[in-house]
Amino acid sequence: MAKINSNYQKLQAGYLFPEIGKRVRAYVAEHPDKKVIRLGIGDVVLPLPAPILDAMRAAVEEMGKVETFKGYGPEQGYDFLLNPISAHFKSQGAEVAPDEIFVSDGSKCDTANIQEIFDVDNVIAVTDPVYPVYVDTNVMAGRTTEAAGGRYGKLVYMPTTAENGFDPELPKVKTDIIYLCSPNNPTGAVMSRASLEKWVKYAKANEAIILFDAAYEAFITEPGLVRSIYEIPGAREVAIEFRSLSKTAGFTGTRCAYTVVPKDLKARNAAGDFASVHALWNRRQTTKFNGVSYPIQKAAAAIFTPEGAKAVKANVDYYMENARIIREGLKSADYTVYGGVNAPYIWLKTPQGMSSWDFFDNLLSQVQVVGTPGSGFGSCGEGYFRLSAFGIRENVIEAVERIRTRLK
Ligand code: PLP
Repeated sequence: MAKINSNYQKLQAGYLFPEIGKRVRAYVAEHPDKKVIRLGIGDVVLPLPAPILDAMRAAVEEMGKVETFKGYGPEQGYDFLLNPISAHFKSQGAEVAPDEIFVSDGSKCDTANIQEIFDVDNVIAVTDPVYPVYVDTNVMAGRTTEAAGGRYGKLVYMPTTAENGFDPELPKVKTDIIYLCSPNNPTGAVMSRASLEKWVKYAKANEAIILFDAAYEAFITEPGLVRSIYEIPGAREVAIEFRSLSKTAGFTGTRCAYTVVPKDLKARNAAGDFASVHALWNRRQTTKFNGVSYPIQKAAAAIFTPEGAKAVKANVDYYMENARIIREGLKSADYTVYGGVNAPYIWLKTPQGMSSWDFFDNLLSQVQVVGTPGSGFGSCGEGYFRLSAFGIRENVIEAVERIRTRLK
């Protein structure tokens, strides 16, 4: 008799976005005349810039001619993309060789799949609040026990709240694999150089591995902040970094990302000897993944040309101006707000200790603005609320104005 992976039954319902959708649909059905502005889900709205589209089109044409047609490509990505990515890291002060980069169809799958190459007995640490993919995939793999009170047993949760400056403190217990996300979704916080140095030191001392999600690296605007964990000395021996073109370059629908697994990174095998994590990930990818399509990789490579980089930066600047408008607007209405300076997310404290979901309902019913309740990202997100800067400017301005002038 076939049996299911019963770890899946431990998963708490994918509650957050379906529940938001349900409440918004119910409201719209009752108030069809009202214009609802959605600043909830973190999806981009601007189209792909011209240099990227041109590269994609040219590559599509190549696929139509026998002389230039491409079949299976290298699972890790084409050199024409790996080389500029490596140069991009270098320009940011990080040493990453082209053959340490794995191009993929998204950071969601990479951050989800990476845990497969590690033993089921590893102790996993995540921040609270957190991007839910890190947690759910470890539940699926059997690294946790049942959830109770919104938290899974055996996972180590590290609160990141206003009280600790949204900077996760080192765990009191020994952990083996630590997920860090900077700039952070959902809090919009960026980890300082000193904090990352502390984490690299911790990882070395504990033979732990840091899974560093830098999906929002391109949104850092303040100088001197760390964009790649490999800027930190020693990080190549303890960290894997994930980057995505989704938000950076409008690729949420197009799909392209990349993950760095340095050759210096080692973890112990069952016999206690060091094994190459790079070799394992390469084995995993070559077995289960057949590469990103040629036209998409060509489009991605165009991001690293001077024209492409300029166009992509213009889109990032547009979203960050939205973030500034939201942040400043809410501040002027006496909200306590975080993030929105080096990340496209504004993380606000709900007024008068209101719950995240009560604030959601008020915002929807009184001013028809949709955001994301912080409690949906973890119990420490209770009392917070996320607004996304991924919106059309006039809607963002209108949403902020409605909150400032009409929200009771
Ligand atoms: N990591 C974080 C922190 C994210 O917020 C997201 C998307 O929202 C992703 C990864 C996934 O990105 P991708 O579109 O590359 O799968």
